Amino acid sequence: MLKLPRRRFWILAGTFLASMLSTKVKASTSISKNKQSVRMEKNQFDVIVIGGSFAGLSAALQIVRARRKVLVIDAGKPRNRFATAAHGFLSRDGQAPEQISRIGKEQFLDYPTAEFIEGKATRATRQGDGSFAVELESGAVYLGARLILATGITDQLPDIPGVRERWGKTVNHCPYCHGYELAGRKWGVLNVGEASLHQVKLMVDWSDDVTFFAQGDNRLSADERAELTKRNISIVDSPVKSLVGDSGTLERVELDNGQSVPLEALFLTTQTSINNPLIEQLGCELEAGPFGSMVKTNNFQETTVEGVYAAGDVARSMHTVTWAASDGVTAGAFAHQSLLAL
Ligand SMILES: Cc1cc2nc3c(=O)[nH]c(=O)nc-3n(C[C@H](O)[C@H](O)[C@H](O)COP(=O)(O)OP(=O)(O)OC[C@H]3O[C@@H](n4cnc5c(N)ncnc54)[C@H](O)[C@@H]3O)c2cc1C
Repeated sequence: MLKLPRRRFWILAGTFLASMLSTKVKASTSISKNKQSVRMEKNQFDVIVIGGSFAGLSAALQIVRARRKVLVIDAGKPRNRFATAAHGFLSRDGQAPEQISRIGKEQFLDYPTAEFIEGKATRATRQGDGSFAVELESGAVYLGARLILATGITDQLPDIPGVRERWGKTVNHCPYCHGYELAGRKWGVLNVGEASLHQVKLMVDWSDDVTFFAQGDNRLSADERAELTKRNISIVDSPVKSLVGDSGTLERVELDNGQSVPLEALFLTTQTSINNPLIEQLGCELEAGPFGSMVKTNNFQETTVEGVYAAGDVARSMHTVTWAASDGVTAGAFAHQSLLAL
C-alpha cells in the first residue's frame, strides 16, 4: 500500500494541481501518441476501471487525459437507474441519470487511448508480474497494470408490498436528492433502524405533514416520542403492511391493524451490500459503515491491496453522484501517479 507522510501528500497534491493546469499545453503536442501505450498488446491497459458510472468514468477521464491506455468495463446498472432524474449535481441538476452517464461516456471515448466494454467482470486476479487479469462473463480476459473498482452498491429494500415499484419515485432514501420535487405533500419515514430517527427530524424542512412509522410499539423510547411530538411529527405504531397508489404514485399506506394513513411520499434508509466477488478475490479489506460494508481505502482511494483503487459508493459511507465523481477523480489521478512510481 502507498503510505506517504503528510508533507509528501501535499507535494503530490500540488504536483497534481500543477499538472492539471498544464494539460492544455500537453494536449496540443500529440494526444494520439502515447509512448507507453503503443508498446502494449491489444488486451493490455495501464488501468482497468470496473464500473463505468459516475465514479468510474470520472476516474477514467483523469487517466486518458494523462495519455494512458484505459479500459472501462460496465454492466450498465447504476444505483439510481430507478429514478427519472438526478438532482444536486452541479450543472446537471434534474437530468436523467442515463443522460449524464451517456455524455460522460462520449467525452471519455473522444480520447484515443480510451476503451469501453459493456459487460460484467467476473474475476480479477493478480499476475506474477504484479499486474491484474480481469475476466468478463463473455470469457474475454484483459490485463491492467492498475485496477480501479467503481462497482457501486445494491440497496436492500424492506419486504413490504408496494415499496420496490415506487423506489426512486415516491419511495426514496435521500431528501436532498428527491425531496424538493415532493415538498409540501404528506410525507412518511419508515423506521428501519437508528438512522431513521435522525432522518425524520430532517424532513420538517420539506413538509409540514410528517408521520413516523415506528413499525412496532416498543421501537421508540418516551424521550424519542416527546422529541418527535415537539417537532409536530405524528407517530404511527402499527407496522406498515402495504403501499397503495396508481403507477408509481402513493396515495396511502395500509397498516397491520387494518387502518390506513393517507401518504404521498415515503422515505427510508436502506442497508446496502457490495455484491461484488472481485473485491474478495483480490483480497481488499472491508470496513463497517452505517449502512453496510465498504471497501477500505486511504486518502488516495487506494485499497489495502497495492495497485487496486476503489471509488464511489463502494468505498464510502455517504452517497451522492458528486461524491462518487470526486472520489473517482482522486482514484484516477493517484492510480496514474503510481504508474510513474511517484
Ligand atoms: C433511487 C436513487 C436515486 C438517487 N438519486 C440521486 C440524486 O438525485 N442525486 C445524487 O447525487 N445521488 C443520487 N443517488 C445516489 C447515486 O445513485 C449514487 O451515489 C451513485 O450512483 C454512485 O455512483 P457510483 O459510480 O459509485 O456507482 P453506480 O452509479 O451504482 O455505478 C456502478 C456501476 O458499476 C457497474 N458494475 C457493478 N459490478 C460490475 C462488474 N462486476 N463488472 C462491470 N460493471 C459492474 C454497475 O452496473 C454500474 O453501472 C440515488 C440513489 C438511488 C438509489
